[in-house]
Amino acid sequence: MNSPHVPSMHEANRLDALRQLELLDTAPSEAFDRITRMAAQLFQLPIAAVSLTDANRQWFKSKVGVEHSAIPRLQAPCAAVADSGQMVAVPDLLDSECFRDSPLADSGIRFYLGAPLTTKAGHCLGAMCVLGTEPRAVTDADRSTLADLAAMVMAQIELQHALGRVDPVSGLPNRNQFVSDVRDLGIVAGQGEPQLAALVSLATPEELSDAMRVMGSAWLDDIVRSATPALRRLAGGGKVYHVGTTQFAFLAPLGASLVRFSGTLLGWLGERTPTGQASFLTTTTVGLVRFAVGQDAPLDVLRNLYSAAHDARDAESGLRVYSPEQDAAYRHRFWLISELGRALAQPDELYLAFQPKVSLRDGACGGVEALLRWNHPEAGAIPPGEFMPIIESTSLARATTEWVLEAALRQLSSWHAAGSTLQVAVNVSAVNLEEPDFCDRVLDGLARHGLPSASLALEMTESALMRKPKAAHDTMTRLAQGGVKIAIDDFGTGYSSLAYLQEMPADVVKIDQSFVRGMEKDQRTLALVTTMIKLSHDLGHRVVAEGVETAEVAQLLRDAGCDEAQGYYYARPMAPGLLAGWLAARAA
Ligand code: C2E
Ligand code: MG
Ligand code: MG
Repeated sequence: MNSPHVPSMHEANRLDALRQLELLDTAPSEAFDRITRMAAQLFQLPIAAVSLTDANRQWFKSKVGVEHSAIPRLQAPCAAVADSGQMVAVPDLLDSECFRDSPLADSGIRFYLGAPLTTKAGHCLGAMCVLGTEPRAVTDADRSTLADLAAMVMAQIELQHALGRVDPVSGLPNRNQFVSDVRDLGIVAGQGEPQLAALVSLATPEELSDAMRVMGSAWLDDIVRSATPALRRLAGGGKVYHVGTTQFAFLAPLGASLVRFSGTLLGWLGERTPTGQASFLTTTTVGLVRFAVGQDAPLDVLRNLYSAAHDARDAESGLRVYSPEQDAAYRHRFWLISELGRALAQPDELYLAFQPKVSLRDGACGGVEALLRWNHPEAGAIPPGEFMPIIESTSLARATTEWVLEAALRQLSSWHAAGSTLQVAVNVSAVNLEEPDFCDRVLDGLARHGLPSASLALEMTESALMRKPKAAHDTMTRLAQGGVKIAIDDFGTGYSSLAYLQEMPADVVKIDQSFVRGMEKDQRTLALVTTMIKLSHDLGHRVVAEGVETAEVAQLLRDAGCDEAQGYYYARPMAPGLLAGWLAARAA
């Protein structure tokens, strides 16, 4: 008999199978109690039970005539059934060497008959058993009756289990079944064997939601049902799992090579012409994952499949093999988003640094740019260039700008209270310009802090303006009418047309640092910057050059007529305390 403390591989698999069925410690169920009552009656015995063999205990899913819900596994006859997978008959416990001194015999039990509860995969979960307080001979009829009852218990267990594993619309096995089958692969294939899995995604979530809006959910059910036969053929007759609304997974035939399997899938993608109502769903993608049987966790296999099918949207062929690097990048994005969400609620994880803008005519500093800084408790300083482009595509962009704006206005009002007339510039994201209440929130903020509108400038990049030009133009116009200054940031890096620029109510154009840095070494860049300055002036804008790192560049800009400069040559972005010192030193 196996010691319950040092489980063998077989015992470990058996326990695993038992736990996956999620029967242990569940509430009593009439479906099982009916069988147990019938067993007690048929055998005319006081005790009957459906007894499951856990690591250290026999737990009763159903029982008649027993008070306990579990007894120790050691020396329990039901454990002997689970260990051997055979029927165990003990006509008299006091005659049996094994059970004479067992707790069961001590409690007055004399007779035991237990039939194994065996799964299709061959794992014995425990026993259907009957017990009596008198010794009793066991007949063939007794054995076959109990075996029938055990089979009824197993049918009930398997039925219950299957219910949570089939998708009600497609009738296909679902995600739970996929996970369970991948886990069981080790029984069929060898441990560590390479295996391929594929996920077919019929549409992007956006397409799906658009189509659902128009066509309704019955339409979707039809799409899923009509796609199933083709997917079955694609899976080479193997099981197809319905793992997401319009997502299906399957395993490659054992031993299939990546080249052949992906060839088949690519062929299918190429020939596929969705007809009729399915033609709404245009972005069909396939993700492929290679994994090691028994070593890679099934849930990871599934997650990697989703990730590959998602990335496949960017692949011309529509197919992507899972890549850990891409996955790591994606996870990092996800981490940044959730961590920034958390940081926004912390008192001092985020703060602002201020970088002066200096007049090229007289060296005076009339304004500063507020730049967001993030000091993450574990990762340390994370630069805005790393997280802002990611945040800007999420709903966090609103909260982030809100946070920056409030912190900048608070700082500005304390400067103004001290007699300074500095202007502060705040960077805003593309989505902010599309928020219908953005302008009101900015003007409210200024009023709340008792600040003149012109003491605030908002910097928006050319590409942010071009995302939804009409909405951006409307917001900018309202802000400008409210007296807020507008700057076009990173000028020269986007694709805005001159006609659009001409219509912009912008006060300032900030020439991107990629043109400014190195302009002293390259005649053509110098010519380009000079033209940008002239053009901006002609359109009525003031010009600020970003990224000025040397006196030579500052002089060239001055010669070209540029109004202001910002860059490490003058000052790095600083905390307010340092900035006060810098301003004082400059004024002296
Ligand atoms: P930006 O608005 O163009 O800001 C200028 C960036 O150039 C800042 O980088 C600044 O530290 C850096 N810089 C200034 N002078 C020099 C120089 O002489 N040489 C070099 N190499 N760099 C210089 P930072 O603070 O890392 O910010 C990067 C970008 O992140 C910003 O570019 C802006 O697009 C974005 N960002 C920063 N803070 C915020 C914010 O509060 N909200 C939004 N929406 N975006 C922000
Ligand atoms: Mg800026
Ligand atoms: Mg810039």
